[in-house]
Amino acid sequence: MSGGVAPFGPHFGFGLYIHWPYCTRICPYCDFNVYAAKERDGGPLVDAIAADIHAHRPRLPQHGALDTVYLGGGTPALLRPDEIGTLLRAASDTFGIRSGAEITLEANPNDVLRADLPGLARAGVTRLSIGVQSLRDASLAFLGRDHDAVSAAEAVRRALKVFPSVSIDLIYARPTQTPASWEAELKDALALGAPHLSLYELTFEPKTPFGLAATRGDIKPMEDDQQADLYELTQSVTSAAGMPAYEVSNHAASKDHQSRHNLIYWRSGDWIGVGPGAHGRLTVNGARYASIAERRPEPYIAGVQALQSGWGDATKLEALEIAREILAMGLRAAEGVDLRRVEAVSGVRVSRDKIAVFAEKGWAEMVGAELRLTPAGRLLTDALTAELSP
Ligand code: SF4
Repeated sequence: MSGGVAPFGPHFGFGLYIHWPYCTRICPYCDFNVYAAKERDGGPLVDAIAADIHAHRPRLPQHGALDTVYLGGGTPALLRPDEIGTLLRAASDTFGIRSGAEITLEANPNDVLRADLPGLARAGVTRLSIGVQSLRDASLAFLGRDHDAVSAAEAVRRALKVFPSVSIDLIYARPTQTPASWEAELKDALALGAPHLSLYELTFEPKTPFGLAATRGDIKPMEDDQQADLYELTQSVTSAAGMPAYEVSNHAASKDHQSRHNLIYWRSGDWIGVGPGAHGRLTVNGARYASIAERRPEPYIAGVQALQSGWGDATKLEALEIAREILAMGLRAAEGVDLRRVEAVSGVRVSRDKIAVFAEKGWAEMVGAELRLTPAGRLLTDALTAELSP
């Protein structure tokens, strides 16, 4: 790598991911580490996560202040503003949070309508990511969601009045969706005016109720070529509306509204992962570690009490694993990846012959040392990455 800059680490961004694993109900397609909230007292888990944040400090003596905090889940919007304040205070007391940092909270539309939004903003939240998923009532019922399209739209409008940035999640490539119906729905979503969209294709993960239904033949997932058509339609509709993709599934109205936290993942920066099942990537003395916290909430809390941290061990990654991750994550983003970073870590030259073939097909381009996938190439991100991987 030129200029002596290390090819990964906190100079590519330093973030904190907090996983809150409870949801009021579990959606049938969801593959995350989630549990039914019931009448549970979240206090012990809030305290454990705060202690886990503190416990990371001695392991990361060189790390400066946090660039981002992301409260994801699960449904972290079930936390009260004072509980979110407790977690953010733990972060700022321990590492510091840079002024102007991005602090994202994931929320479902009904949480937004119930929440004290100014209280959340006062607690420090700067960005709300709303799980709208669809703006069609029949699709919301199919997806097992407990909101309707009117409340989703109202939630977005209220959030836009309070937070500097708002993101909407939508799920497309649903079994009976046509290009015309998706185009109309996507345009309705764009008309809500949120400056960030995350647009995911519906997936059928093996152990979820949807995955099992697909195996039984009760639900028929959309065919790959139909999905690809919807992906291409998505790119053209969002680009025409001034919301081009800056990553496979993510679109923003401007650089200011891109998810700075997710950019840390795609740039192979460092992030701490706290809360049940949270993953982290941390660079210490030039070595890169993958941490993963205990998945179940009660053992996680017990682990923090016993060991001061939710993870006893972190795995030291091998050079090839690191290089593959820099390439795979970097190629997801439209900005691409500097191949010198991949080559410096792996010691293996990425094939320029293969890149030339991809460029000829309109899938990739080299800009200096940066390899970028085109929108057409991003449809094939996994396959192209596998071809180039050291
Ligand atoms: S609300 Fe989100 S995290 Fe919770 S079950 Fe549904 S999809 Fe999963």
